[in-house]
Amino acid sequence: AAPRELLLSRIRDVPDYPKPGVVFKDITPLLADPEAFGVLTDALARLCAAQGATKIVGLEARGFILGAPVAIRAGLGFIPVRKAGKLPGATLSQAYELEYGTAEIEVHAEDLAPGDRVMVIDDVLATGGTAGAAVELIRRGGADVAGIAVLMELGFLGGRARLEPALRGAPLEAL
Ligand code: 5GP
Repeated sequence: AAPRELLLSRIRDVPDYPKPGVVFKDITPLLADPEAFGVLTDALARLCAAQGATKIVGLEARGFILGAPVAIRAGLGFIPVRKAGKLPGATLSQAYELEYGTAEIEVHAEDLAPGDRVMVIDDVLATGGTAGAAVELIRRGGADVAGIAVLMELGFLGGRARLEPALRGAPLEAL
């Protein structure tokens, strides 16, 4: 199958998860299929190379699963962006809005430096809140944002439009 069809065929819709009315996109069938996981890893690594990325940020938790093999494939360092309170060293923190309340993510400050071009990797872009906060963290660390690369964008949630101003021309690529 063409890569896009192969990837789509390995993503499962789970209705009413994590709450009624939400259809969750479950990527575990894709992770369990080495051909599909390889196709995804290669495609994300090509996007990193095309943007001249020098580092990869993966967003907890599925962005870790995807970002680590992409980092190896692309020959780039991997930087975890974690939920608040999980990183042991000196961190930069960024809060962002959820549907109800707020969330906070963190990065080790020493992982970012001027001159870095950082690609943000995650599985699913929904409202764009998480990726937008990661973009802020990268800039506050003095680095440039090479772009955001995700497996899947839930277009009906409007994340792309919300992120556009913060991206300042950097691409948001959804496979
Ligand atoms: P956002 O901040 O864009 O609203 O939500 C994106 C974050 O929530 C990502 O880290 C993503 O992993 C997770 N997420 C939201 N909806 C889904 C979904 O349907 N499937 C998966 N796999 N992750 C989701």
